[in-house]
Amino acid sequence: MVYFSLNSNDIYNIIKRIRDIISQNKNYLTELDAAIGDADHGINMDRGFGLAVERLSQINNIDNTDIGTILMTVANALLETVGGAAGPLYGMFFMNMATVASGKREIDIDTLVKMFKEGLKGVQDVGGNTQPGEKTMVDTLYPFVHTLENSLERGDDIFNALDNAIKAAEKGMLSTIDMIAKKGRASYLGERSRGHQDPGATSSYLILKTFYDYIKDKLNRQS
Ligand code: ADP
Ligand code: MG
Repeated sequence: MVYFSLNSNDIYNIIKRIRDIISQNKNYLTELDAAIGDADHGINMDRGFGLAVERLSQINNIDNTDIGTILMTVANALLETVGGAAGPLYGMFFMNMATVASGKREIDIDTLVKMFKEGLKGVQDVGGNTQPGEKTMVDTLYPFVHTLENSLERGDDIFNALDNAIKAAEKGMLSTIDMIAKKGRASYLGERSRGHQDPGATSSYLILKTFYDYIKDKLNRQS
């Protein structure tokens, strides 16, 4: 069994990488939103993660900072600046993750799974009980969380469980192309929302992929 843990500095590094990835995909996310929304998703997300990292960079001694505090800083930055639907949704995602991580400077895989699970629950609650199949970020987050959990419960090692989970997330993201939106701004388009990949499902994939890549790199360095 590989020993797994993420510490405060790892979480800070992951958030910085998410900021970079979102920034690199700012125009792409905005283009996706232009097709079925109001062309602001990339701009919103870039602003939010930009502020999150700016605030985190001001914390002295990040290594000794509670992971809950780090994630709550992210949540607040997103709530304050992202606006639209994604602000409260991702705000609650990171806030619920923060609550699980509160008081910890190191987390194991079970805690991480619990964090993602609660984060997903937060998104579903804020969205109005959003379920997979409604063409939203839940189509990416839900399969990721459940595949990760089921895979670990089955006894798969962390490497395989993460691989299975990220593949399920990608499949979920792509599955939004054929869906008719049932939630959010895109739902006003009805049938015309079909044929376009959901912007939120895409940003969720980018966020999860960043966690995935970072964790795989760390595990590879250890083994
Ligand atoms: P807005 O639609 O207010 O402009 P954004 O463009 O930033 O906000 O975010 C749009 C994304 O938010 C959508 O692509 C979708 O994934 C997600 N979303 C919208 N409404 C909901 C909801 N009720 N539940 C879950 N996700 C939602
Ligand atoms: Mg929008």
